[in-house]
Amino acid sequence: MNEIKLGVIGGTGLYEMPALEIVEDREVQTPFGQPSDSITIGRMHGIDVAFLPRHGRGHRILPNELNFRANIWSLKSLGVDTIVSVSAVGSLKEEYVPTHLLVPDQFIDRTRHRADTFFGDGLAAHVAFADPICGSLAKLVGDAAEMVHTEPSPGGVAAQVHRGGTYVCMEGPQFSTRAESLLYRSWGADVIGMTNLQEAKLAREAEICYATLALITDYDCWHEGEEDVDGAAVLEVLRQNSKVAQGVLAEAICRVAQGRQRECGCADALALALVTPRDLIPEETFERLEPLIGKYFDSPT
Ligand SMILES: [Zn+2]
Repeated sequence: MNEIKLGVIGGTGLYEMPALEIVEDREVQTPFGQPSDSITIGRMHGIDVAFLPRHGRGHRILPNELNFRANIWSLKSLGVDTIVSVSAVGSLKEEYVPTHLLVPDQFIDRTRHRADTFFGDGLAAHVAFADPICGSLAKLVGDAAEMVHTEPSPGGVAAQVHRGGTYVCMEGPQFSTRAESLLYRSWGADVIGMTNLQEAKLAREAEICYATLALITDYDCWHEGEEDVDGAAVLEVLRQNSKVAQGVLAEAICRVAQGRQRECGCADALALALVTPRDLIPEETFERLEPLIGKYFDSPT
């Protein structure tokens, strides 16, 4: 079996790529419960890629119901060290037009009640999170996105890609009120979604490089003058976004397959983060987290 370094979290349509050979579906158990669904392993450009449908096949799980810890842990347990997340977002700025792509580099947390750390239970740890997205992976995703066209040429035009931006992660499942949407705009935020921040936090704790390809589906409710949006137009945006996302992923997988060096700090994120001395960490906690923290403690003699 090939090792699996690259994971993709996103919709189920993502792996309907002609060049992707589906190898198997794998059920993965984690100490934090069930991930959203089984993981589909696909092979492309000579590497294996693990696809996890964020909301489960058929879209059954609300953002606030997601078991983020199980999702990230399940990929980590397969050997994944790089996660590309694909998600739909609303635009908070005029210039981010529905169908455009954005690769965020910051987050603002507007969630509540979400389990978003592997630590606790007797082990304190604080990872650095000033730069919550892996810069080198974000560059790779941005470069891949700029290669993609909205439709196969000659009919298509190059995908519009915005690099960098602040993603407001809201609790949901309801969309924002207009007052909230205007508030986020006044903060200078760029896009709004419901899922990516917890993934980024847990990926960092698991020392996994993480970047997001945000697909802009609509203007959030701040935008006036969009009152004539009809269902057919929204469906067309979603269809186009899905095609473009597949194209970006295919390109990104190709780049990873060519040999990606992890020249970022993600692989050592816990080096300065673990606070509690080994002899004070409860054995049960240590054993559960051993795949993450074991390398930082001398093995017993
Ligand atoms: Zn990284």
